[in-house]
Amino acid sequence: MPAPIQFDLDRLRDTRLRPIGEKLRAGERLTADDALTLYQSPDLLGVGAMADAANRAKHGDVVTFAANQHINPTNVCVLRKTCVFCGYARLPKEEGAYRYTLEQVLAESDRADGTITREFHIVGGLDMQAGLEYYQTMFRALKARHPQVHIKALTAVEIAHIARIEKMSREDVLIALREAGLDTMPGGGAETFSAAVRDVIADKKLGGTDYIDVHRTAHRLGIRSNCTMLYGHVESMEDRVQHLTMLRDLQDETGGFLAFIPLAYHPDDNELGKTLGREGTATTGFDDLRNLAVGRLFLDNFEHIKSHWIMVSSAVSQIALHFGVNDIEGTVVREKIYHAVGAHTPQGMTLPALLTLIRGAGKRPAERDSFYRILREFDDASADPTADPLALTTH
Ligand code: SF4
Repeated sequence: MPAPIQFDLDRLRDTRLRPIGEKLRAGERLTADDALTLYQSPDLLGVGAMADAANRAKHGDVVTFAANQHINPTNVCVLRKTCVFCGYARLPKEEGAYRYTLEQVLAESDRADGTITREFHIVGGLDMQAGLEYYQTMFRALKARHPQVHIKALTAVEIAHIARIEKMSREDVLIALREAGLDTMPGGGAETFSAAVRDVIADKKLGGTDYIDVHRTAHRLGIRSNCTMLYGHVESMEDRVQHLTMLRDLQDETGGFLAFIPLAYHPDDNELGKTLGREGTATTGFDDLRNLAVGRLFLDNFEHIKSHWIMVSSAVSQIALHFGVNDIEGTVVREKIYHAVGAHTPQGMTLPALLTLIRGAGKRPAERDSFYRILREFDDASADPTADPLALTTH
């Protein structure tokens, strides 16, 4: 049962939200119908106020971020032609295709030198030439070179791909990767679980039930993970609720999810955007904020709701800190996947910029590790953040 939340019901202008506010105050779990109402209500500020109250009950004014670095070792992907929302993937001989050698991965990882990068976030395409040994060798070498850095790598879709090409079980792949240095898994590849939606946007991709099953297996092995939902393409509000319900159910079962991260669909430079006539029209700030707020309210068994400033802009992420969000994407260093589909945000953010963003929302910034344990808080706004080694993590 969720903890009761202090909340003034008079802040709700949509009367349909009142029973939901009453449930939250009583510590009752929201139903799928409640989640649908939260998505449909025109009173976004009311939804946000409830999400803010739920978030404050868990985290007060603290907003966390991680000193992380993204590494995308290959954009070669067997699903290049069928994931129509993706602008990142290439076929092996297509212009722009790349697959890093181990030396290139290590060279990219060395951007972490002189900084206190604490996490490598490693995801890429479903590359037939990047099997188990490719990633085992990579993880072992990264751990040898940067022993202090956590490896968060390979989505459920990539794990299933490696299992398929190696003719191994997904469990055995996870065990082998864990032994090589895999610490946690990112949440990408979820898209929207609805089979009907997947038929339109990614008909050959690992299905929603299988995505859940890979995460269930990982959790059983002690590998914790994040989860996501891609929104703003062809999915309905009912599809979103179904997706969140599947995530909440698995979290009830395993408790292995660390954070929920809604991901905004970007319509540029991909087939789906052309088909829908949506190029140049990304998701709205309203929808971005609503997805975060509904995530906070419906996923009552999740501690952390994260805003991805690369996808929704740093301005929307800052406002989201009052819509249920307690964690914000970190320093990143060099992001490729969303910039391939039209993200206009920077490819990385310095520590001073992150601190300014969080403090500007009236919140207290704190750096966390990959398990969301707070490492240090930045209480003194007058301190010079450029004196911090993290500030060297520039782009
Ligand atoms: S979304 Fe992932 S699986 Fe699909 S084409 Fe892009 S890289 Fe490949």
